[in-house]
Amino acid sequence: MNSPDPLVSTRIRVEQDVFAVRQLGREVGRLVGLEDQDQIRLATALSEVGRLLVAAGRETEVVFAASPDGVPALTVKLEHAAHGDADQLAAQLAQVARLVDSMEVRDGETGTIVRMSRRLPPNAPVLSPGRMDDIRSELTGHVPGSPFDELAVQNQQLIATLDEVRAQRDDLARLNAELEETNRGVMALYHQLSDELEETNRGVVALYNELDEKSVQLRAASEAKSRFLANVSHELRAPVTAIIGLGRLLSDDASDPLTSEQERQVELIRGSAADLLSLVNDLLDLAKAEAGRLEPNWSDVDLKAVFGQLRGTLRPLATRPGVDFVVEEPAVPRLHSDEVLLAQVLRNLLTNAIKFTAEGSVRLAATRVGGEIEFTVADTGAGIAPELQERIFEEFYQVPGSQALSGKGTGLGLPYARRLVGILGGALRVSSEPGKGSTFTVSLPVSP
Ligand code: ADP
Repeated sequence: MNSPDPLVSTRIRVEQDVFAVRQLGREVGRLVGLEDQDQIRLATALSEVGRLLVAAGRETEVVFAASPDGVPALTVKLEHAAHGDADQLAAQLAQVARLVDSMEVRDGETGTIVRMSRRLPPNAPVLSPGRMDDIRSELTGHVPGSPFDELAVQNQQLIATLDEVRAQRDDLARLNAELEETNRGVMALYHQLSDELEETNRGVVALYNELDEKSVQLRAASEAKSRFLANVSHELRAPVTAIIGLGRLLSDDASDPLTSEQERQVELIRGSAADLLSLVNDLLDLAKAEAGRLEPNWSDVDLKAVFGQLRGTLRPLATRPGVDFVVEEPAVPRLHSDEVLLAQVLRNLLTNAIKFTAEGSVRLAATRVGGEIEFTVADTGAGIAPELQERIFEEFYQVPGSQALSGKGTGLGLPYARRLVGILGGALRVSSEPGKGSTFTVSLPVSP
């Protein structure tokens, strides 16, 4: 950084010069843009250094300079010819040094040098070369006042400073009072809030307890329902099977011949009993799955084999000439799952698709999507309205007016399929457009 440009210089020989330097310091400070308080600080520091040097009988040269570049600051250099004063002077100036930003006391080649500087505030005018010249010429016209004048100015400054201190103290007291008031308000609010929070917490805890109790009751009710269903359907199976057997016996060739009317009636009995048996079986399956009594039998499932079996067993059902029944080759050969349960779900979905498709196609495929295998059963059948697409997974729900093209159905197939897929660690969902067809998707993790 360049050394500061000199603005004005003077000498201190006698006590009176100390007053003059003090005045000059304040004037230079004002002209370069120091604030009032800083002007007083700099002038006081200068007069202290001057006083000490005069008392020591030193004749001193004082140079004021400013740094226009780098950090703008006003610098004062005091230099006298004698050597060896630096340490003692530095000790005496320890207090005074606090009035300025930096103060350095050292023994130079030509004598002892005291250099002090005070930074200019950011809003001070820029010290362009022109401005520096203006300051210099203003300072040439500066006439020092008498020590009395200086005393008067100092007194005024003291009074002003005392007033300012008092005003600041009053401000501080007022601020303190406001702060205390605010604190009290904040504390009151805090207490109120924490009371409310506690109250709310107690409410939430009570609510949770109630919820827990309700869910225990619900679980107990659901278990009771499953038990009841399982028992009833189990008890019903034996007599229904007996009715079917007896019906078969009655229409057996070895039995006494029946009139054609009797034969028709026996057929009706057998048909109804078969429907009843499939309902009872479905109910029993669902009850078992709901009661958590179905433990999957995990093993490596050969999907090719499962698809082959489904193709073989379901093709006889897909007899409608306008419907293509397609079981694609699975894109994934194996899967860790329960073969029986998986086949049951896919069979169920395919049977539905065949039941509700008059023309077009019914297609089963398996593809890998991320860490999952997706089985899709897509048909071009009746489709399901969007608002009913969740309802079909409810027990006994059948879309009103939907006409199964074969077989009656119980409305238990899809809820059961969803249960099974859940047990296998996956999800069953449907997307469908009425009149265009439906796609049921079973997503299973590759390794559950
Ligand atoms: P079910 O087939 O025995 O009636 P499900 O639970 O399997 O019972 O199906 C419930 C209802 O969902 C069916 O009655 C039918 O209205 C509708 N549904 C199921 N699958 C299809 C499908 N592929 N196309 C159109 N509707 C379907």
